[in-house]
Amino acid sequence: MQTADVVIIGAGMAGASAAFFLAPHAKVVLLERESQPGYHATGRSAAMYSQSYGNACVRALTVASGEFYRQPPGGFCDYPLITPRGALTVGAGAQHDSLLQTWHAMRALVPNIAWWTQDQVLQRVPVMRPEAAQFAVYEPDAMDMDVHAIHQGFLRGARQAGATLACNAEVRRVWRDGALWCLETPAGCFGAPVLINAAGAWCDELAALAGVAPIGLVPMRRTAFTFESPSGTDIHDWPLVIAADESFYFKPDAGVLLASPANADPVPPQDVQPEELDVAIAVDRLEAATTLTVRQVKRKWAGLRSFVADKSPVVGFARDAPGFFWLAGQGGYGIQTAPALGELAAALVRGLAVPSAMAALGVRADDLSPLVRPWAACVGPPPAAGGAIHRMRAPEYRPPPCSSRPTEVAAGARPLVSRHPGSRSAVPQARPEFDPARSGAW
Ligand SMILES: Cc1cc2nc3c(=O)[nH]c(=O)nc-3n(C[C@H](O)[C@H](O)[C@H](O)COP(=O)(O)OP(=O)(O)OC[C@H]3O[C@@H](n4cnc5c(N)ncnc54)[C@H](O)[C@@H]3O)c2cc1C
Repeated sequence: MQTADVVIIGAGMAGASAAFFLAPHAKVVLLERESQPGYHATGRSAAMYSQSYGNACVRALTVASGEFYRQPPGGFCDYPLITPRGALTVGAGAQHDSLLQTWHAMRALVPNIAWWTQDQVLQRVPVMRPEAAQFAVYEPDAMDMDVHAIHQGFLRGARQAGATLACNAEVRRVWRDGALWCLETPAGCFGAPVLINAAGAWCDELAALAGVAPIGLVPMRRTAFTFESPSGTDIHDWPLVIAADESFYFKPDAGVLLASPANADPVPPQDVQPEELDVAIAVDRLEAATTLTVRQVKRKWAGLRSFVADKSPVVGFARDAPGFFWLAGQGGYGIQTAPALGELAAALVRGLAVPSAMAALGVRADDLSPLVRPWAACVGPPPAAGGAIHRMRAPEYRPPPCSSRPTEVAAGARPLVSRHPGSRSAVPQARPEFDPARSGAW
């Protein structure tokens, strides 16, 4: 068994960002089921950064991530991670009052968000039908994100700080051995006192494997597709256009247009595929609101946006299992909030407070914690008296046959896990600055 301080399950944006911020302080192993990271939600997003999107908690995390995206650490990426796009929410008729209200609420957080007239909309996006865009709210600082560069930057930085990534490493069995979480994968067995559950849509399934109470995560299918822009029209400068009732959105994407019916269809966790009907609905709505014609769909895909009831991410140690840390429920905001969520997760795992810059922007651990959220009362027993959480709900320890080795470790990875041949209960040799006993797990 390979042991580490922290084992992270899932190498999408959540797992990669947590590994990036933790690796300088702890021995980190990142386990990914697929042959390459980023195959699921992370590789299927619309790549938008908007400070006015989501609930107050999400907006605070998004604002807190902005500085990282504008000024990433040296060596993270040679070119900008975000580029100006703008976001335009268009409405008509009876939507006036509610959109006006939304504008006032948004302005409290993002002062340069503007109310636009029909003329302004038509000047910027001439394909809008006037009757569908009688007024709008414009967010000039909404950005396109380079999701691949961000994800690779996190993975590369984590690796340079000593983290190990194992692909083809689906976690199939989880059990406790003393202070360790032990994990069986086709790439070998791994153990660590802290397990970070960053398995995206599969977070509740992973918790079930570990005998930990679920958080009620609901994966929602969202479909997207690209199509040719109208010939002779320069779409380069168009913002993302979203209907006030969120019935569709479209935006320029590498020379073509990307569109979505903005659907949110609950489905079990899976390698979700686009439904023809979703695309047809989007085309219908798009052609009703604009003069665009979708002659041919160039590429279509679907991905899962996973939410808990209050639509805020879940970040923190579980109440019913020592060292089991949730990093889940990023919904439709997991890319734009990744730097803040990764840094916050790393701080909480190390037993530290919310970083001060983040706290100043309104990020509160309690808003994200699985322990104090309104629905938390029904997901597990309260912690044992005195704060020490020793209740074990994980399956009883049964040593598995454990002869396999990782089938794929990221090129150039410098393994940091201490090997303790023949000893499944060996305590990892923690780096001086990482003391599992001091981490927020206990
Ligand atoms: C169509 C669409 C548009 C979106 N647009 C935006 C946007 O504009 N802006 C934004 O910020 N966000 C957007 N999102 C949301 C964003 O993509 C997600 O919030 C984010 O990618 C979630 O990252 P994750 O790492 O939690 O999940 P994932 O990327 O799904 O990663 C989880 C990983 O865990 C692995 N895994 C699962 N179970 C196991 C196991 N047992 N063992 C090992 N590995 C396992 C999976 O293989 C997967 O790679 C969009 C999403 C969709 C679908």
